[in-house]
Amino acid sequence: MGRIPVAVLGATGVVGQRFVQLLADHPLFEITALTASERKVGQRYADACHWALSPQPPDYAAEMILQSSEPTLNASLVFSALPPAIATELEPQFAQAGYAVCSNSSAFRSAEDIPMVIPEVNPDHLALISHQQNERGWSGFIVTSPNCTTTGMVIPLKPLDEEFGLRQVFAVSMQAVSGAGYPGVPSLDIIDNVLTLIPGEEEKIEREIRELLGQVVDARNIAADFIVSAQTNRVPVVDGHTICLSVGFEEKPTIDNAISVLSRFRGPGSMRNLPSAPDHPIIVRPEPDRPQPRWDRDSEKGMAVSVGRVRACPLLHLRMVTTVHNTLRGAASGSILNAELLAAKKYVQ
Ligand code: NAP
Repeated sequence: MGRIPVAVLGATGVVGQRFVQLLADHPLFEITALTASERKVGQRYADACHWALSPQPPDYAAEMILQSSEPTLNASLVFSALPPAIATELEPQFAQAGYAVCSNSSAFRSAEDIPMVIPEVNPDHLALISHQQNERGWSGFIVTSPNCTTTGMVIPLKPLDEEFGLRQVFAVSMQAVSGAGYPGVPSLDIIDNVLTLIPGEEEKIEREIRELLGQVVDARNIAADFIVSAQTNRVPVVDGHTICLSVGFEEKPTIDNAISVLSRFRGPGSMRNLPSAPDHPIIVRPEPDRPQPRWDRDSEKGMAVSVGRVRACPLLHLRMVTTVHNTLRGAASGSILNAELLAAKKYVQ
């Protein structure tokens, strides 16, 4: 069996570059097309891309000619790393033309019939695909990944919810500059500073966590019934979002119990053999001063959420700190894991 031909839409951006890096030698997928904005169409990838991950882009990509983001690409699946406004227009065109679209943008995350999925958390939400195709008359479909900060919170919250029942979540994030895309925030704004507004981010987190931990019933996602309050900040870190959480439960866990539940979590059996699946989606750090983005963002090739400082909370029941790699687990690698799940379940071949 040959590999599945895939394209990356928005391949020159921060997330697009991660796709190009990660798919260089993938066992299931082969990149056959890369796209960018019209002003770069026709250029060599190496010339048009401000490559930031190593001295040069991989050999296979350097000579590729950037194409227009139109649904005539030689691929069955497209990874979309487009800005939300462009994704809103283009992703449905690809789904209508029969492509599987694995999206990183927020454009369709809140659409009722479009699954937002993390394989360890809610693989059953893929059931929305057939409903989406029937309702919209598409032969292809869109599956989205959540916001990167949501991902760094919901993976550890999943096993805690299953075991103790979430009631309240209070979160404060410290988010890396790569989360703002290229060229990101001006250096004069972020060096020696903390930006205390990331527009739209808090609302996304508050909605997405409840949807990811909700239930799909009769082709509708019923959001989970607990409260989330988020405050988000941009800090002068290159990669890796860190989140301080206080959590209240139906049943108060002991700290040892909570640590044990977090450490044991592996996700459902259906995803454990996928090529990009981490052995440990959650790594609990025992040191008193971890996680830290510089040391922990690359754990399990950037696919693990690191959790530490698990301790009692005088406000709610439990406090902890999590770190997630925003462009790997929170974007490109998470999206590739979704595509691997889609291939394993024969949604794409
Ligand atoms: P970015 O660095 O700004 O990259 C955007 C990409 O889209 C570039 O390749 C750009 O091409 C292309 N593009 C822009 N306008 C276009 C158009 N009219 N037609 C076709 N292509 C166009 O952004 P990013 O950080 O990679 O984010 C990409 C998406 O992922 C966004 O929706 C973002 O919200 C989401 N996301 C980002 C992160 C993160 O940590 N950065 C995490 C999770 C999700 P040019 O080079 O030609 O301009």
